[in-house]
Amino acid sequence: MVTHTSATVSTAAFAAKAAPAADPAALAGPLRVQRAWEVLSTVLDPEVPAVSVRDLGIVRDVRLAGDALEVVLTPTYSGCPATEVIEHDVLAALRVAGLGPAHVTLQRAPAWTTDWITEQGRARLLAYGIAPPGPLPAGTEVPLRFMPRANAVAPSLACPRCGSLETERLSAFGSTACKALYRCLACREPFEHFKPL
Ligand SMILES: [Zn+2]
Repeated sequence: MVTHTSATVSTAAFAAKAAPAADPAALAGPLRVQRAWEVLSTVLDPEVPAVSVRDLGIVRDVRLAGDALEVVLTPTYSGCPATEVIEHDVLAALRVAGLGPAHVTLQRAPAWTTDWITEQGRARLLAYGIAPPGPLPAGTEVPLRFMPRANAVAPSLACPRCGSLETERLSAFGSTACKALYRCLACREPFEHFKPL
């Protein structure tokens, strides 16, 4: 799989540069956890390979559980088909980095929201041609579904290519359930929007 390969290669390059001799698995606990966070910056989201799992804010914690690293992940939404791929990629990247035994714990509450996408993640989405989600107003309920809310008005979105606000929504679903398809009326290009959740 392409995503997995690229994550593995970049992780390997990083490991070669940062830890030439020492055995990373033998690092003191806090250092090993810190290295794991760094490695997780190189694990890309399989659905939007412009952003890492850290950019998306789905890595909630990295800690030591006995001899093993425990990575706590919150899936972007319940039943997201990418979750298994992400779990696999995270463990593979940690293994390539030589960080010793590791496992993933899924934490479903509190539910992930697009507010957890980092500033860097939003910038990367935009550069990739996906209009990032805006922050949700405080107190907004977070439904665990991707159906449009009954009273929702499709927001006016700026085209990620030309910046025009003259855009229209073509479909509530893009290439994946978490994205909607838009079209820019100025430059005529379609683009995807990462829906706020
Ligand atoms: Zn445009």
